[in-house]
Amino acid sequence: MSEVEVPEDHPRYESLLTRHRIEEGVAKGITSQQGLIAQGRGEAFDYLLGEETTPSADAAERAASAHLLLAEHPVLSVNGNVAALCPDELVELAEAVDADLEVNLFNRTAERMEAIADHLREHGAEDVKGLNADARIPGLSHERAKVDADGIHDADVVVVPLEDGDRAEALAAMGKTEIVIDLNPMSRSPQTATVPIVDNVLRAIPNITRHARDLADATDAELREIVESFDREAALEDAERRIRRGDWD
Ligand code: ATP
Repeated sequence: MSEVEVPEDHPRYESLLTRHRIEEGVAKGITSQQGLIAQGRGEAFDYLLGEETTPSADAAERAASAHLLLAEHPVLSVNGNVAALCPDELVELAEAVDADLEVNLFNRTAERMEAIADHLREHGAEDVKGLNADARIPGLSHERAKVDADGIHDADVVVVPLEDGDRAEALAAMGKTEIVIDLNPMSRSPQTATVPIVDNVLRAIPNITRHARDLADATDAELREIVESFDREAALEDAERRIRRGDWD
């Protein structure tokens, strides 16, 4: 038995574990009630994708790792769902690519910001950004625009899992290289991303870390080649085809 009262070989184990973590996140004040709805939407898309990392999602995760390794200042944006689902994996990725972790909430409250920062620290994060909120993303209303001047505002590459479409567009308009993880390829956030990753964050984050470790000794030229050969349109089309038609190739 594991952290849920279900054996690990249960066919719905991962899905049940995910629900359990999100419920716990709500109970601890980390995840918002809106986060429960986002979780439900995500589950439906994941079911249609076959609940596995597709070859095109894997290619996107490899391109994401190359972007992160080439970055001057990469930042991983953390919201209430991601913090509840995969805190250890976020901390590991931040270490592997030398990125900052920044709490960045759509429904921002001081309590939830603190709860998420504490939760990340409990899982090994040393420095958690987002609490200063001393800079703004242009083009967004006050609360939703808040970021740290030495965090997301200054970043050249940002990973935004489950980001709201408006904010994803505003970050792209600031010229940032945006890596979006979202199970819905038709959502505005992956549509605006430099690298759209249509995969569950639970699988995507550790797989980006695995690729980053594989590429640790690659030259900048090799990393640029991976970045340039990634085709974002093909990745989005591939995911949509798989969801709509169950097309597995
Ligand atoms: P947009 O404004 O970009 O269209 P949206 O309204 O579709 O956004 P929300 O309703 O906020 O977005 O839903 C959150 C998104 O997060 C959904 O697209 C859902 O598929 C995705 N999502 C939920 N859980 C996960 C997960 N574990 N991994 C990846 N994506 C997820």
